[in-house]
Amino acid sequence: MSSRKKLIAGNWKMNKTPADGVALVRDIVAAIGKQSDVEVVVCPPFTALESVGKALEGSNVKLGAQNMHHEASGAYTGEISAAMLRALFATHVILGHSERRSYFGENDEFINKKVITSLKNQLKPILCVGETLAERESGSTLKVVQRQVEGGLEGVSKEQAPTVVVAYEPVWAIGTGKVATTEQAQEVHAFIRGLLVKLFGDAVAQKVRILYGGSMKPANAPELLAQQDIDGGLIGGAALEARSFVDLVNAATAAK
Ligand code: PEP
Repeated sequence: MSSRKKLIAGNWKMNKTPADGVALVRDIVAAIGKQSDVEVVVCPPFTALESVGKALEGSNVKLGAQNMHHEASGAYTGEISAAMLRALFATHVILGHSERRSYFGENDEFINKKVITSLKNQLKPILCVGETLAERESGSTLKVVQRQVEGGLEGVSKEQAPTVVVAYEPVWAIGTGKVATTEQAQEVHAFIRGLLVKLFGDAVAQKVRILYGGSMKPANAPELLAQQDIDGGLIGGAALEARSFVDLVNAATAAK
């Protein structure tokens, strides 16, 4: 049992038109839109942010984006700024997702710029970290995660840190149906908590939510969410259907 409010965030990736997104959140809001035991965030593609945001009005479900650029404006074709996201009432932004790191070459330094910019603009960053299968098999999981956490959070102040969310997502578990065992996940979550203690002190580190991500489903969520340092989930596939997403929020409610 921890004092941290559990958080369930849905990462829709490159799925859902605005109309599809609105239909999905209508069902989610009808089922759990008024509950406040668990913080719930949906992260549609940029093109659906505005209409999904409108459909969320009056509910407790929050709006997040899947990425942003660190500059305020300018010649960055195809990019979106923090102020643009704020103008659409986004409260959260996923940064450094492994798909951004592997397909778009994002590194810790670049991701750190985005983290700093998001915080300056009152957007809560969900900083994703996690090792590949090769890194796990070569025994470098903790080293990789340490580099990503320390690199991603460089320059974040103690005052800002409680609004940061870290998502531990072993790359080999994302979209593969392979979920980390509760022991594997809790080990890395506890390690991340230790890194946060070193960076920000114990009191602040105890406030930071650390989510698990990687094939989290209603069937495996209760055991994962019962772990001491697992404060919620970043959900891909199971966030695309209201029933499974709502079941995950209910599992987090039961585990709180
Ligand atoms: C993700 O991409 O953040 C994710 C966790 O995906 P999935 O739940 O589909 O593994």
